[in-house]
Amino acid sequence: MMNNKFLTILVFIIIGISLAVMLSNNRKNNMQYTLSIIKPDATARNLTADINKFFTDKSLTVVAQKELLLSEEQAQNFYIEHKNRPFYGGLVEYMTSGPVVVQVLKGEDAITKNREIMGATNPKNAAEGTIRKEFAESLERNSVHGSDSEESAKREISFFFDYDEVTKK
Ligand code: UDP
Ligand code: MG
Repeated sequence: MMNNKFLTILVFIIIGISLAVMLSNNRKNNMQYTLSIIKPDATARNLTADINKFFTDKSLTVVAQKELLLSEEQAQNFYIEHKNRPFYGGLVEYMTSGPVVVQVLKGEDAITKNREIMGATNPKNAAEGTIRKEFAESLERNSVHGSDSEESAKREISFFFDYDEVTKK
């Protein structure tokens, strides 16, 4: 009798500890997906492999990637949040001026991590060792795009890919 009670308590303790370990692992392991675009200035200089090395060096995996030419409508819709900004027209023209490589990156804290790897929007302000410091030609021709929040990552991945398919990997 005593033994049975002891065993039951032991089983509950083990289940409790396992659950606590699983929960804390989940919290530490913030696996995310983010959308990256290698922009026309970079594809024109064949920089895709060099840029991908920046991601893999920091433990981001490219789980989906395709090259395409954006239509004017696609570029306008993709950057719709900027539609009232003075640079919007030029940005749309630039983004449709040559091929882009759209890609989905996966990794721990992928959204923030990719923004760090990219560097500041204006290459003049980009830190040493970032993609934009290394490759960007100007504020507009700044080589890469990266989602800036979980919400925009979901919207932007779905803009080019089947979200459920790429996030299964
Ligand atoms: N851009 C520009 N002029 C500006 C600000 C932005 O041409 O004054 C372009 C640039 O290519 C930038 C994109 O518009 O990457 C989107 O701007 P955003 O502020 O979202 O910067 P990002 O998120 O790309 O760093
Ligand atoms: Mg942005």
